[in-house]
Amino acid sequence: MTEKILTKDNQKEFLSRLIKDYQVFAPVEKDGNLLFSQIDTPEELAEEYRNTKQPPKELFFPHSEALFRFRKGQAIEESPNEAERVIFGMRPCDAKSLILLDMVFNAEGFKDPYFIARREKTTIISIACAQPQITCFCTSCGTSPVSEEGSDILLFDLGANYLVKSITPKGQQLIDNLGGLLTDAQKSDLKKRDELVKTALAKMKSEIPTEGLKEKLEGMFDSPIWEKIHLKCLGCGICTYLCPTCHCFDIVDEAVDSEGKRVRNWDSCMYPQFTIQASGVNPRLSNKERLRQRMMHKFNYSVSNYGQIFCVGCGRCVRNCPVNFDIREIVKLISEK
Ligand code: SF4
Ligand code: SF4
Repeated sequence: MTEKILTKDNQKEFLSRLIKDYQVFAPVEKDGNLLFSQIDTPEELAEEYRNTKQPPKELFFPHSEALFRFRKGQAIEESPNEAERVIFGMRPCDAKSLILLDMVFNAEGFKDPYFIARREKTTIISIACAQPQITCFCTSCGTSPVSEEGSDILLFDLGANYLVKSITPKGQQLIDNLGGLLTDAQKSDLKKRDELVKTALAKMKSEIPTEGLKEKLEGMFDSPIWEKIHLKCLGCGICTYLCPTCHCFDIVDEAVDSEGKRVRNWDSCMYPQFTIQASGVNPRLSNKERLRQRMMHKFNYSVSNYGQIFCVGCGRCVRNCPVNFDIREIVKLISEK
């Protein structure tokens, strides 16, 4: 796959051309928050950012979506017809999270046509992180600030230029379509890229001990550790809603008379009603059981089911928890048991 140079002077033209051919989503500032939104002009792109507040999962697995409609007992299918899309400016941790979501929504025997259609129609252009945040710990989670995994194209910010590396045939196709806007990378550009990689990795200051974590958790279901850990948790669910890999949902029928729709909505294991049964029994009565579930799901059950921890170390749950619950501290506590 090729390595090219895009000058920052040409960045607007690059985005304008993409906007002509694709629906383009990129980090945009809205009410003080950085979110992935569709852009109609290059000027809408946020100027400087580390990562978005919301992860990109909503672009593949919307917060709320109608799966089909019904009228007088007849189902009317919702077609997952999506336009060709580009997501520009994703970070490598979020690109990796899409690989994990593929394991859930595009598994043998469990195919989600809505998710799969969006994945197939989307080209991911990520930007390597030159300045990881203090809350980032992706290198403990099987990825890195410069990882290619999950991206179709990876950009490296070299100052006045971007080094543009195509990772997949889809990415290469997009680059080929841009014709003369990109020039071949020179040896000096590759050297600068290598420097950026070294610096970015050296700046990663936060880590969690994931080695042997699953095996530890196997024997900790009834551990007294959970009695203490949950005490400050409010059960607000922010950590799960902002997590790029959390994917629990609920399905409800919304109907008036004989017409309605079947809707899939995000849900959260941190909510009391998540496991309530028709009899009224709730096996996860308090935050203790719910928080244990969150940790077990991410670091134990996901490894059993998919061979991967379901955390990419993006740090969103650490930055946004209203009571400063820090998943890194909990993992450390568990590993010391
Ligand atoms: S964001 Fe914090 S307080 Fe809210 S549910 Fe998660 S851990 Fe608990
Ligand atoms: S658990 Fe926290 S750090 Fe890990 S991927 Fe989810 S939001 Fe990011």
